[in-house]
Amino acid sequence: MIYDTVIVGKGPAGVSAAIYLARANLRVLVIGKGYGALEGASVIENYYGFSEPIDARILHENGMKQAKRLGAEILEDEVIDISQNYEDGSFSVSTPNEKFLAKSVLLATGKARKNLKIPGFMDFLGKGISFCAICDGFFFKGKRIGVIGSGDYAAHEAQELVRFSKDITIFTNGKEAESDKFPPEVKFVKDKILKISGEDKVEKIETELNNYQIDGIFVAEGTAGAGDFALKLGIVTKDDNILVDSGYMTNIPGIFAAGDCIGGLLQIAKAVSDGANVSISIKSYLKNKNGKGK
Ligand SMILES: Cc1cc2nc3c(=O)[nH]c(=O)nc-3n(C[C@H](O)[C@H](O)[C@H](O)COP(=O)(O)OP(=O)(O)OC[C@H]3O[C@@H](n4cnc5c(N)ncnc54)[C@H](O)[C@@H]3O)c2cc1C
Repeated sequence: MIYDTVIVGKGPAGVSAAIYLARANLRVLVIGKGYGALEGASVIENYYGFSEPIDARILHENGMKQAKRLGAEILEDEVIDISQNYEDGSFSVSTPNEKFLAKSVLLATGKARKNLKIPGFMDFLGKGISFCAICDGFFFKGKRIGVIGSGDYAAHEAQELVRFSKDITIFTNGKEAESDKFPPEVKFVKDKILKISGEDKVEKIETELNNYQIDGIFVAEGTAGAGDFALKLGIVTKDDNILVDSGYMTNIPGIFAAGDCIGGLLQIAKAVSDGANVSISIKSYLKNKNGKGK
């Protein structure tokens, strides 16, 4: 079964697009984990149509109920990978448990991932620190590799890296390992990371209890954000934002983006507006692609 559109992210942008696409009789799946930016918000007072302030979580839940009522499918899960099937131009969107086929994909994952607040981190970005195992794993063949993270996304990246090296250490940075999908051959270091150091490139990770000689570090803390998918798919970004054209399409035909992840005004009204607008472009893309979405 192939979806017309798989939407990554169930915030205002993703759910708004789902509402419009479902009402256009298209087969839509929304995959989202957690509340995104609304997690940090308590009450919303400046969104049109609410005479009284509304609880951010209630607004979120209401949006999802609305989309479901109109026929969109919503799955609470984390997307760990998106890839293109070059035979027919369709896309595969993977969670730790399943793979979904889609004719088009909408990235609505919110604000891209922040850099880690670890002394030395910013100094070695691109000098041994990478955000993408499939892109850069090859450069660390047979080397000592560290992965910073503890969840399914970190496990996914580690699965990619074991192709290149058997010396892989997962630094969970003070957390328990939260995924059961780590490759059996990896080692784990739980204690908190204090510093990353080296001369011209990364050479050492210093933790509360120990120092670890390392040749490369892959960052996979938390869930994969728009920036991570962009790296893997070759989507152009600028200043941590996904670049889109006037139709919200990225440089990859069939992949669209909307909401906070494309930057601009970081507000619900704009995210919802993006969702409505991008649905128009997705419909015409699908119509051109297979005469559907009249
Ligand atoms: C503290 C705070 C207060 C705010 N207050 C207001 C306010 O009063 N008024 C206002 O208009 N705006 C406010 N905002 C801004 C507003 O929340 C955002 O502009 C809006 O939520 C953006 O919508 P979005 O759909 O683009 O992203 P988000 O709402 O961030 O949603 C992104 C979705 O993607 C999901 N996701 C991300 N990565 C993955 C993955 N790999 N797999 C699966 N799911 C994933 C997230 O869990 C989330 O469901 C506030 C933001 C913050 C942080």
